[in-house]
Amino acid sequence: MFEKILIANRGEIALRVIRACREMGIKSVAVHSTADADAMHVRLADESVCIGPAPSSESYLKISAVISACEISGAQAVHPGYGFLSENAGFVQALEDHGITFIGPSAEHIRLMGDKITAKETARALGIPCVPGSDGGVPDLETALEVGAEIGYPVIIKATAGGGGRGMKVAVDADAMEIAFRTARAEAKAAFGNDEVYIEKYLQKPRHIEIQVFGDGKGRAVHLGERDCSLQRRHQKVFEEAPGPVITPKMRAEIGKTCADAVAKINYIGAGTVEFLYEDGQFYFIEMNTRLQVEHPVTEFVYGIDLVREQIRVASGLPMSFRQEELELNGHAIEVRINAEKLPNFTPCPGRVKTFHAPGGLGVRMDSALYGGYSIPPYYDSLIGKLVVYGRDRPEALARLNRALSELVVDGIETTAPLFDALLNEPDIQHGEYNIHWLEKWLARQFS
Ligand code: ADP
Repeated sequence: MFEKILIANRGEIALRVIRACREMGIKSVAVHSTADADAMHVRLADESVCIGPAPSSESYLKISAVISACEISGAQAVHPGYGFLSENAGFVQALEDHGITFIGPSAEHIRLMGDKITAKETARALGIPCVPGSDGGVPDLETALEVGAEIGYPVIIKATAGGGGRGMKVAVDADAMEIAFRTARAEAKAAFGNDEVYIEKYLQKPRHIEIQVFGDGKGRAVHLGERDCSLQRRHQKVFEEAPGPVITPKMRAEIGKTCADAVAKINYIGAGTVEFLYEDGQFYFIEMNTRLQVEHPVTEFVYGIDLVREQIRVASGLPMSFRQEELELNGHAIEVRINAEKLPNFTPCPGRVKTFHAPGGLGVRMDSALYGGYSIPPYYDSLIGKLVVYGRDRPEALARLNRALSELVVDGIETTAPLFDALLNEPDIQHGEYNIHWLEKWLARQFS
């Protein structure tokens, strides 16, 4: 087992990994930018190294700086968290060249899934059902129109190198294709430096259902059920739950096995998430994330498994500590993402937090790096905490979320917490009747 792990991240996810390290008797090393010198992850880790100035391109994303920090601290392994370098194959390769273990999948698997077209081809070859669409990149408008005519409108044009919900445009008919196609390419170029796009059938009322998988790198893999992450704003998740309100045990077992078998076949190591859109009883693969997800705690609650501990175990060469037969789904968990943003426009709202009080009590988990007196820097993601609740069933989890939200205090800045108070009053949310478009429509009604 490793003696020392460096965490190449910040915020709540850095804390999450530090906690797992401490429980396993492993020393933790935090890295931070100059803007994060007072951040909680720096305080909680056993050691810390400053790796550069505030912009993440010069610190958290700078591979050479992270590797130097490993060498200075003597860390044997790196946990990347999510975002930043977590899905950067070049980073994994650089670590390997320096004899440092990456706590995550191989560079090859990251590459395979990082490019969405290759990911879809791979998924299809591994027996995973996909959304109908173009076979690969669509080079010009003429081809785009051919694809549109073939699969039928509406269609969605997506960046091959996409991520974070950016670079996607919907074309409702052939007339709308030209503008949609050009803007999608321009946005893809601007955001990812690569203007290749592909086309998929645009599903009208799907749910976003993702399957948590875990592999040991030696041909064994399991699934830990699904998460329903359909409540999204601008293609970004804001509320996630497990199990999914519409997924039956039979469906879970089937799609779960398909995904676990697929990743076992490629000797995948560590945590991964296979994302699907789900409509009328059918699953359609959209992408695979080769890392720990923001919303992993809901799965941890309902399966009683520490996913980070497990990631560290398999990265060190130990076997997984459970078999599929031993994994039992119990109860219901919900996560809401608390962002430092001002409603109704979700304008980022960094600044000084005067008071912070985290909710507690039975079945409540608050993953947050906030503290009273902390100044949230303006340079990074606006996620400041994840409030996760567990109940024996969905109604109990909802009631607990309501109660936990009433205890949360974040004074000094605006947050998205009031959004969830309002959502909990909605019958559709209470009954689990929502799809990926529900939240946008609701927001438009509320604030128009
Ligand atoms: P990203 O990597 O940018 O998050 P994804 O491919 O995972 O992109 O898609 C993000 C979200 O965009 C999905 O959860 C869904 O809401 C929407 N979306 C993606 N593909 C489709 C599709 N074919 N039809 C309808 N909505 C889609």
